[in-house]
Amino acid sequence: MSGKLVIGNWKMNTRGDSARQLAAALLADGETNREGVGIAAPAVYLAALAEQLKGGNIALSSQDVSRFAADGAFTGEVSAAMLADVGCRYALVGHSERRQYFREDNAALLAKMRNAIAAGVVPVLCVGETLEQRESGAYLDVVREQLAILAEIADGEYVVAYEPVWAIGTGKVASLEQIAEIHAFIKNWCLQNVSGSDKIRVLYGGSVKAENAEAILATENVGGALVGGASLDAGSFRVICQAAGKMI
Ligand code: PEP
Repeated sequence: MSGKLVIGNWKMNTRGDSARQLAAALLADGETNREGVGIAAPAVYLAALAEQLKGGNIALSSQDVSRFAADGAFTGEVSAAMLADVGCRYALVGHSERRQYFREDNAALLAKMRNAIAAGVVPVLCVGETLEQRESGAYLDVVREQLAILAEIADGEYVVAYEPVWAIGTGKVASLEQIAEIHAFIKNWCLQNVSGSDKIRVLYGGSVKAENAEAILATENVGGALVGGASLDAGSFRVICQAAGKMI
């Protein structure tokens, strides 16, 4: 796929009806119903959405994937094979809310990445620092430590999403200089530590909105956007996808 990738993260929002309505609005619009646009929906709605999206171009993503690969006694878990079975193209891995509320660490995240890749699902590894880490100046070390698991993955496709925790759902957006700095850092780290790294796409996430999407997406080394709140509104998401679509 060439061009920018935009994935809407619905988080723990929507119900059956509202998920269907939102997907219908995205399907009806050529700016959102196209290659390079995805939606990360709640797990319980993935199968129904996969049916609804059939024949369109919107990619389906999960918001997580189990660190356990094999079927078995792992109550509450959804495996990578199950996600592939219902038609997920992507799986978010290590979103900051998962790291914060579910204490996901590098060992678990590496297992999730490997399971997704083995099942043919493209994992989207989310990295990013807290406000405290940003203000203390430790943010590059934090991101480097989160990226480290990529050096353990021999091959397979994946995406990285840089999402400063202090910019997620807060309305605070990283400045274009901050975004450019960290995206260059991630790109260089990948070039030095990961094979095939020239193909790794790095998304920006954190209060991306209709108003700021174009400038963020035009920033050097930004390969697309991971969009939370604004992806729940078809009109806002459309504008973000339209901005991305113009940049091939
Ligand atoms: C996210 O959930 O990944 C995110 C970036 O959220 P928001 O766009 O609402 O900040």
